[in-house]
Amino acid sequence: MQSEFGNEEKERYSRQKSFFGIGEKGQKKLAAARVLILGCGGLGSAAASLLARAGIGYLKLVDRDFLDLSNLQRQILYEEHDVKEGLPKVIAAERRLREINSTIRIEPIITDVNRFNIEKLIADVDLVIDAVDNFETRFLLNEACVKQKRPWIYGAAVESYGLTMNIIPGKTACLRCIMDNIPQPGSTNTCETVGVLSPIVTIIASIQSAEAIKILTGNTKDINQNLLSIDLWQNSYQAIDVTKSKIQKNCPVCNNHEFDFLNGKRGSAYTAICGRNAVQILPFKELILDLPELTLKLSSLGSVKANEYLIRFEIEKYELSIFPDGRMIVKGTTDTGIARSLYSKYLGN
Ligand SMILES: [Zn+2]
Repeated sequence: MQSEFGNEEKERYSRQKSFFGIGEKGQKKLAAARVLILGCGGLGSAAASLLARAGIGYLKLVDRDFLDLSNLQRQILYEEHDVKEGLPKVIAAERRLREINSTIRIEPIITDVNRFNIEKLIADVDLVIDAVDNFETRFLLNEACVKQKRPWIYGAAVESYGLTMNIIPGKTACLRCIMDNIPQPGSTNTCETVGVLSPIVTIIASIQSAEAIKILTGNTKDINQNLLSIDLWQNSYQAIDVTKSKIQKNCPVCNNHEFDFLNGKRGSAYTAICGRNAVQILPFKELILDLPELTLKLSSLGSVKANEYLIRFEIEKYELSIFPDGRMIVKGTTDTGIARSLYSKYLGN
């Protein structure tokens, strides 16, 4: 794609092409590369900005959520007017990324990642950046990536610490190799319970982006082989060797191809959302809601704001965001029972 800069376009990547690890050849590989950024919060928005600037030819952005004022502290793609417009994150991200680099393809997808859509989402990309906020989705992503042999880059940040690791199926340990099970709900810190410092988010996203560039340009001998753990407050920088994990264990995912999350043997339909005092509820079957009709119905019951992407409905002390695919995010509680009953009350079962 040509931008308005015409011949000056070759200048865009001049500093990157001068870098020994990339060059003209590497830049062409980046232009041909397809990357999925799963989650467009703190990690995802920083990685999307870096990878768009680096000239990744196609970026697929997936996120289920809309913007909130509390996002601006660390989610560097977004601005106050995006929050005022009530935009879904991927739509605001797409707009900003197009302003950064008009020569690449960007595809925003507003959806929750689940076992029904994960395989399709990763099928046409070369690499996945993990920028999700929960382990259940990560375990699902891990299984789908091992099954389809797609590299993915684990990333997580909370409080002042963060973790990242490259997972290249068949070559490195996978998430399940190093972690037996999803941490129990309530047993892990979340952005909501302990907060998060913005610099740890951008550091982890920067490492993920650098590793993505190495993998996509074929510099595989230079990729990081360790689980990196950084704590900016405690000044701790650790590289944990996980290269032996795969050999030591009989990994159910890598070795036995037991895809329990993909097959629906494990996993739930409710998710508490990190940092939001909110619960997301998924419909039990595929749905397409008539938003204008629903807006009309709900406006007699409480305050309703709607745009083409979602309805925001305030009732009692809760704020319900309803998406065309039948998902609902209930803000004002972390109690899945309350959220479930609000869902039944206003959307039915
Ligand atoms: Zn494994």
